[in-house]
Amino acid sequence: MHNETPIVRRQSKRIYVGNVPIGDGAPIAVQSMTNTRTTDVDATVQQIESLQRVGVDIVRVSVPTMDAAEAFKLIKQRVSVPLVADIHFDYRIALQVAEYGVDCLRINPGNIGREDRIRAVVDCARDKNIPIRIGINGGSLEKDIQEKYGEPTAEALVESALRHVEILDRMNFDNFKVSVKASDVFLAVQSYRLLAKQIVQPLHLGITEAGGARSGSVKSAIGLGMLLAEGIGDTLRISLAADPIEEVKVGFDILKALRIRSRGINFIACPTCSRQEFDVIGTVNALEQRLEDILTPMDVSIIGCVVNGPGEALVSDIGVTGGHNKSGYYENGERQKERFDNDNMIDQLEAKIRARASVLDKSKRIDIRED
Ligand code: SF4
Repeated sequence: MHNETPIVRRQSKRIYVGNVPIGDGAPIAVQSMTNTRTTDVDATVQQIESLQRVGVDIVRVSVPTMDAAEAFKLIKQRVSVPLVADIHFDYRIALQVAEYGVDCLRINPGNIGREDRIRAVVDCARDKNIPIRIGINGGSLEKDIQEKYGEPTAEALVESALRHVEILDRMNFDNFKVSVKASDVFLAVQSYRLLAKQIVQPLHLGITEAGGARSGSVKSAIGLGMLLAEGIGDTLRISLAADPIEEVKVGFDILKALRIRSRGINFIACPTCSRQEFDVIGTVNALEQRLEDILTPMDVSIIGCVVNGPGEALVSDIGVTGGHNKSGYYENGERQKERFDNDNMIDQLEAKIRARASVLDKSKRIDIRED
């Protein structure tokens, strides 16, 4: 029930990764990357399917060898989500996965080597309408750029990116997006800000090697939050040393918090104190798990007492406000006569949320991507 985001997006060119639009105001696509061995086709397909179940838009798969390229062919046949092949240096792998229907190549043209090899990849990408992602990482800048700047700086990352951009420009290829990732939040943010002023292509955001599930999520939320709030960014990946499913969930949570892309339930819950009339934390945790399948954008407030409960419930799709033995229930911002037993809070709320989601779905309030 909260308003639309006040964020004004940067103007960027539209590209497509498979059927997913990127840039020019398209919903910000959430990506993740498999961490199975690509040659283990079954395990990789299984992981991609579990990423799809939590809503991933695009999945990147590392393709380090020709064996992995053959495995990629089989994986691609078995999944429906667009796949990006992550390739370093070896242009033959890029050409091979292009034959197998890859949806995007993550390869830096300047690292391919000889001009004829670069041209072979770019011509192939053009012929098959496959976009390229130029991916700059603060930890692997070119030697001469490292020497020029002494350390990774925003200017250094952007100079590196523009080198690859210039190669594609020279070959009249503009179907690409760019990332300038760093593990330091300020370095990444400054790099993206600088780059955003210099190219019209979409930007793929990320804080690279951000850390474990908790610390990496916080770093990513700060860095990507700053950029997204300024309108910068067209697609994102949260890089966590954790189950990739967490990357997708955190990505959507960041977009949800900024009201850029609403997908699933936005829980509003108090931290609890001795005034709470029912187990708020247990209720929220249980419902977050039980309701992962709900994709309908909706606000649900679960508040332990009347101090803040009614205020939040009035601007939520579903709200509950802790009361003695029985708690107040709100729907669509209106107080209902019905009250909930505090002892059976989770089941009652789940039923109400599912019913409300179904009403909202019918009234076409669905994920903006499907609009
Ligand atoms: S809303 Fe009530 S229970 Fe929750 S933290 Fe505030 S005072 Fe405590």
